Amino acid sequence: MMYRTPRREKPLALIVDDDLSMRLAMQAALTKAGFDIVLAENGRTGIKMFTSTRPDLVLLDVVMPEVNGFDTCKEIRKQLGGDFVQILMVTGLDDIESTELAFKVGADGFVSKPINWAMLGHRARYMLRAGNAFQELNMSRFRLEKTQKIAKLGNWEIDLLSGDFTCSTQARKLLGLAEEEALVFEQFFMTIGGDEQDAVREKLVKALDKKKPFRVSYKVLHPDGSKRHILNQGEILFNDKQVPILLLGAVQDVTLQKMAEEEIRKLAFYDGLTGLSNRLLFMNRLSQEIVAAQRNKTQFALLYLDLDQFKRINDTFGHYIGDILLKKIAAALQHSIRSTDVASRLASEDPEKMIARLGGDEFTVILSDIGEIEHVAMVARRIVKEVPQRYIIEGHEITVTTSMGISMYPVDGIDGDILLKHADTAMYQAKNSGRNNFQFYRAELNAQAVERFSLERDIGRALEREEFILYYQPKMDVPTRRIVGAEALIRWMHPERGMVPPGIFIPIAEESGQIVAINRWVVETASKQWQTWHDAGLAPGVIAVNLSGYQFAQQKVLETISVALEKSGLDAEFLEIEITENVFMQNLQDAATILQHLKEMGIRVSLDDFGTGYSSFSYLSSFKVDTLKIDRSFVMNCIEQPKNLIIIKAIIAMGHSLGIKIVAEGVETIEQLEIISEYGVDEAQGYYFSRPVPSEEFVDVLKRREL
Ligand code: C2E
Ligand code: CA
Ligand code: CA
Repeated sequence: MMYRTPRREKPLALIVDDDLSMRLAMQAALTKAGFDIVLAENGRTGIKMFTSTRPDLVLLDVVMPEVNGFDTCKEIRKQLGGDFVQILMVTGLDDIESTELAFKVGADGFVSKPINWAMLGHRARYMLRAGNAFQELNMSRFRLEKTQKIAKLGNWEIDLLSGDFTCSTQARKLLGLAEEEALVFEQFFMTIGGDEQDAVREKLVKALDKKKPFRVSYKVLHPDGSKRHILNQGEILFNDKQVPILLLGAVQDVTLQKMAEEEIRKLAFYDGLTGLSNRLLFMNRLSQEIVAAQRNKTQFALLYLDLDQFKRINDTFGHYIGDILLKKIAAALQHSIRSTDVASRLASEDPEKMIARLGGDEFTVILSDIGEIEHVAMVARRIVKEVPQRYIIEGHEITVTTSMGISMYPVDGIDGDILLKHADTAMYQAKNSGRNNFQFYRAELNAQAVERFSLERDIGRALEREEFILYYQPKMDVPTRRIVGAEALIRWMHPERGMVPPGIFIPIAEESGQIVAINRWVVETASKQWQTWHDAGLAPGVIAVNLSGYQFAQQKVLETISVALEKSGLDAEFLEIEITENVFMQNLQDAATILQHLKEMGIRVSLDDFGTGYSSFSYLSSFKVDTLKIDRSFVMNCIEQPKNLIIIKAIIAMGHSLGIKIVAEGVETIEQLEIISEYGVDEAQGYYFSRPVPSEEFVDVLKRREL
């Protein structure tokens, strides 16, 4: 609340005393000191006079009939301006009690009778100065608060010595902090949206560390659920010994600015019609992609689409219809990209970001971090299949197809313009070769894509035509050399190509989703076979099957396994599942849940190809697997490359400390066996004992029991 004493030429003093002679004497003294005077002969009139004149100073006698000086003082304090007026009490008695009481009721000072008249004038002037300063301070505080409110600005500070944290009213409002409660610094961070909290904290700590000013902007969440953009700037103040003592900060609501920026960004970087990135943003993104690919030594693909005969459609149906069609195409494009497993894996953060409309009927897509060319071909195939549709627009039936050219970084160019030009060239090749298809800029990639595509098509038929068979390879207990189980390994007898190794067709099946059916076939066939050998008294131990592919949860792996166990009659304890780390990497939560269920079913889980993946060790503490299989690349070269021995040793030590069984795969020689045996490997598998063999031959292996 703001109050200002009326402006006057001379200060005004109100004298309240029931004794006329005193009143006159006081009047004389204060007039001499430069005051204008009003007089009141008792407390009640005094209060009235106060409200009507708003004096700067009140001289108040304590002992008066009816309303005494103390009560009058109290009452004046309650009036408008009562906080700021200087009140001097005149006590008749020089006793402690009434002086104390005077301060208690809010007097600023007292004089006792007999009064030193010469001093009284000085005293009054002095008090007036203090009163003005007090009022000024109050004014500027009020002004600050008001201007902060207007500017949506607040200030805060932390006493770096005591840790006390204070916030102006407006800062509290902006940060969404409750108005009344006492604050601790931690609350400052609590209001920040979850993902930004750590970054802000880090910046602040760094600023403190480096003793430098800071500037952060972030979103805060208000208790009412609304979000505001806040700019928070601060600086450290030091004492004369250069010790930081205070962190001063200002927060500002920049929501409107942010919104405006966002709007401008949209206009500048996005295509108004389709909402996709425009050419400018795309070129920008392309250069970023090049920098990233260069740094990470990865490759990426640039897809360049052009609708076939769009001009004819535009001419026939008009621009209005053409525009609607483009919008629909953009949506179809987004959908087909999002729905490919590969693409969503590649650009899981934001598939929309990868798609742009360059202008007219030309669209581009960036697929980053490409492992196999086939990933690109798959996405391209999906686009060519899904984007062309029969669109009904305002009663017109319009069919469009699209042609697409693809260039690859770095093989087709290391510069954005070149990549774009080459993709464009390839797009024309696609148009020339009959439209509605895609072409790589590099001819040999086309051949590869065709090859993969034909394999993918053949895999689809292989299951029906019973072209898959399982081979079995025994697992040995190292100390006793006894067979303790086997691994089932798939083989494909292709009618024209002969035997296709799993290394070739499994990755294709994983990408196309055909792996789901293959996994099911493998688990069922292996379980049935093992149970048959069990019944014949042949099968010792556990049969391991390899399960792979993405999205275990969606594959219904658990259901597949239960069905296989049920159909075959195999006991769960004789089944082991071999998985690789990439299963964890897709969806940790899903993988954890599935592993937990497998455990509950009594099925063993083995982590395959250990040591080749990413952060192998970290998974082991959160996922309880039964077995680790040291990848064969370590075992196979362990004699020639001592580095491998160190890795093997480390894996064994770490695995054993977690109570996990260690299996070495790829044991080919007696030397290798001896060395890993010395290191304490539990089980081994490899050509030294037996190659994977078909079931007829495996019976002979089993009959030997020891190898
Ligand atoms: P993997 O699971 O690591 O399988 C072990 C591979 O090592 C097998 O190759 C096996 O033949 C080979 N191997 C075994 N002992 C030795 C040895 O002493 N020296 C050498 N050099 N190699 C040895 P294969 O059968 O070609 O399988 C390759 C990969 O294909 C497997 O690696 C596995 O990832 C996958 N795979 C095989 N069968 C299946 C299956 O039924 N389902 C799934 N999803 N993947 C499978
Ligand atoms: Ca395996
Ligand atoms: Ca393996």
